[in-house]
Parts: sequence; C-alpha cells; structure tokens
Amino acid sequence: MMWTEEQKALRAGLAACLPAVNEGHLERDAAARFPAEAWKLVADTGVLGLAVDERYGGLGQNLLTTMYVLEGLGEGCRDAGLSFSVSTHMVSTGVALQRFGSARLKAEYLPAVSAGTAIGAHAITEPDSGSDALAMRTRAIRDGDHFVLNGSKAFVSNGPVADMVVVYARTHPDAGPLGITAFLVPADTPGLVRGQPIAKMGLRTSPLCELFLDDCRIPASHVIGRVGGGFLVLDHVMQWEILCSFVIKTGEMQHRLDRCLEYARTRRQFGQAIGSFQAVAHKLVDMKIQLETARSWLFATAERSLRGENITTDVAIGKLLSSEGNVASALAAVQIFGGNGYTTEYGLEKDLRDAVAGTIYSGTSEIQRNRIASMLGL
Ligand SMILES: Cc1cc2nc3c(=O)[nH]c(=O)nc-3n(C[C@H](O)[C@H](O)[C@H](O)COP(=O)(O)OP(=O)(O)OC[C@H]3O[C@@H](n4cnc5c(N)ncnc54)[C@H](O)[C@@H]3O)c2cc1C
Repeated sequence: MMWTEEQKALRAGLAACLPAVNEGHLERDAAARFPAEAWKLVADTGVLGLAVDERYGGLGQNLLTTMYVLEGLGEGCRDAGLSFSVSTHMVSTGVALQRFGSARLKAEYLPAVSAGTAIGAHAITEPDSGSDALAMRTRAIRDGDHFVLNGSKAFVSNGPVADMVVVYARTHPDAGPLGITAFLVPADTPGLVRGQPIAKMGLRTSPLCELFLDDCRIPASHVIGRVGGGFLVLDHVMQWEILCSFVIKTGEMQHRLDRCLEYARTRRQFGQAIGSFQAVAHKLVDMKIQLETARSWLFATAERSLRGENITTDVAIGKLLSSEGNVASALAAVQIFGGNGYTTEYGLEKDLRDAVAGTIYSGTSEIQRNRIASMLGL
C-alpha cells in the first residue's frame, strides 16, 4: 500500500514519543499499573483524536489512515496493555460518538476524548452474557426525561480509570437485538459503582473491572444514536475495534519478527548462527507469513469498508488471522530465544501472555468462526 507524506508524518509523530513511553514497561507490567504518564505522552501526539472531526479537536482522518498510524503504535510501543487501552478508548467513545452522537454530546465530550484528558470505556459483557452479548439483562427504564439503569457489567477495559463509559442496556425487554440502547454515562454519575481492578494473565497495564448500575439516572439526551438502536452502534464500534486493535497486533508482530531475525543471525550454537538451522528458519518464515496475511487482510478489509461493501465475514477472518497469528508468533519467539525467551527480562513471555487475550476479547475465535459459518449459509 502506498502511503502519503501526510500519513507517514502522522505515524512518525507518534513514533517519536514511543521510546519514552516504553521506559519502565516491564516493571509496570509486573506491578499491573496503568501508566498515566505514558498515556499523556501518547495523547499529546494527537493520536487519540485521529478519527474525530477537526471541529471537535480531532485530526479528521479516515479508517485506513487511523489504522496505519495505529500499526505504528504496535511496532514501536512495547506496552501492549497501554496500546490496548488506547484503541479501546478511541473506539468505545470516540468512534461511537463521532458516528452516532448528537451534536450536543459531540460538543460536550469529543474534545476531551480527542485530547485524552478524559478516558473512555465501553460496557457490553455481563456475568451471564459474554459471547451471547445480546442476551444482556441490564435494564434502562424511561422516567420522564431520564433513563434509570440497573444491572451489572463484567470485564470493562479502562473501567478503573475511565471518566466516561458507553453502557449498552436493554430498553425493550422483548425486542431482542432491537431492544438495546447505548448510553454515555459519566463515571461520576451517582449509582455507577466500579469493582476492584481484576488481576489477569496479560495486558496488565490496561486495567479491567466490573461495573454495577444501581438506579443510575442518565439524561435521555445521553442516548447515543436512537433508543433501540444500540445494536447498530455496537456493530459499527466492533468493526472499528477489531480493525484498529488488531492492526496494532500486526505492528507488534513486525517488531517481534525483526527482533527474532536479529537474534537468529547473531546467536551462535554448534559454530553457526541458529538462523542457519532449518528448524529455526522455518519458524521465522511462518512468523512472516502470519504477519503479512493478517496485515494485508486487515487493510484490504478497511478499503472495502470505505467503498461501502459489507465486511462482516472479512472482519471475522481478519480477527482470526491477526489474533491467532499473534499468539503463534509470540510462542515461536519464546522458542527462538530459548532460555532467554522464557525470562521476564527479554519481554517475550509478556508478549505471549498479552497475545492470548486477543483470541477472547471482541468476540472469541469460536464466535468468529461461527459468524463465518453462518455467512457461508451453515
Ligand atoms: C482482556 C479482555 C478485555 C475485555 N474488555 C471488554 C470491554 O472493554 N468491554 C466488554 O463489554 N467486554 C470486554 N471483555 C469481555 C469479552 O468480550 C468476553 O470475555 C468475550 O466476549 C467472551 O465472553 P465470556 O468471557 O463470557 O465467555 P463465554 O461466552 O462464557 O465463552 C466461554 C467459552 O465458550 C465458547 N463459546 C461460547 N458460545 C459458543 C458458541 N455458540 N459456539 C462455540 N463456542 C462458544 C467461547 O468461545 C469460549 O471459549 C474483555 C475480555 C478480555 C479477556
């Protein structure tokens, strides 16, 4: 793909801050600490407002350019948790408001979302509805010019540090997918209570928690899109979430491949570079194939989306290629580095722990395969 000088400049502007962002990333992973100072460094480059209109403080870029710059985040940022928090923030609130928000909501919230001075999250999953997300039970009942929300949400990325959360709740109990509505809920709204941060295998610098809604009153003006139109918002946001958060993974895969190639050329055993052993070289070849197929598929899917084509199947395939390719590449990297790969010092075991999450969030691998099967008429 040919990128313009303007697109390259945006990516280079972000890359310049990443060495400072990376400082201490292994220590904060061990401490499971959200890096507020690194967040600010990234925010100051303007990247959080890439897809937001200029009149709301954003850079007014399209999906392809946004993905190209975010791929650079994956390539240069060694804190995959921070990168995940960045993409979650951008799509959960930025993309939802930009595409479906009222003029009033956009004017009130998008400038802070673009600048990163307010952090966003979204709450879809519930304790009893994960893969079957549309079975959500959190209720929103109209009361004059407000809605009253009650229920609980599980696994809210950025939840512990969020200033606002897009909560998906059921406004019509019997209307299936058409009974869901998206609400912009400021985190300090009475009745919204956060659980403790949840300890997890990877992405430890991206904090995660439950949310409890107990008679939480939200003005009707905080509905994003239409009442009963939450599924449309969610569908659009999930397509962006998969394309944006997984193109970051291809950047990570590129960096990992470069690192492994360098190691395979310089690490010597039995009097020769380990890369000269076919068993090692083939691992590197597979890493290359996984990277190139995932990357070209994701960008081609974005191009199709911009042409207005239906990308339901393509997004599911892209998610599988990039998430499963990333796990395979991270596992191969540990093996290529041998004992060093298994130590925390080299950061490769962290890569593997971080990568596993990608086969679960934004719809598990099994659900993506189900989606493709149903698009095939099965
Ligand atoms: C790091 C991380 C961040 C997350 N961030 C967010 C967030 O910000 N907001 C949010 O709302 N949610 C978030 N989630 C939740 C995530 O979307 C869910 O975990 C995911 O959708 C799976 O739901 P579940 O955990 O309830 O698993 P379940 O749905 O209980 O699934 C358990 C297993 O059964 C399989 N399974 C279920 N149904 C089927 C089926 N029909 N066919 C075949 N297999 C099936 C699944 O694939 C899985 O292997 C996050 C999760 C993680 C791990």
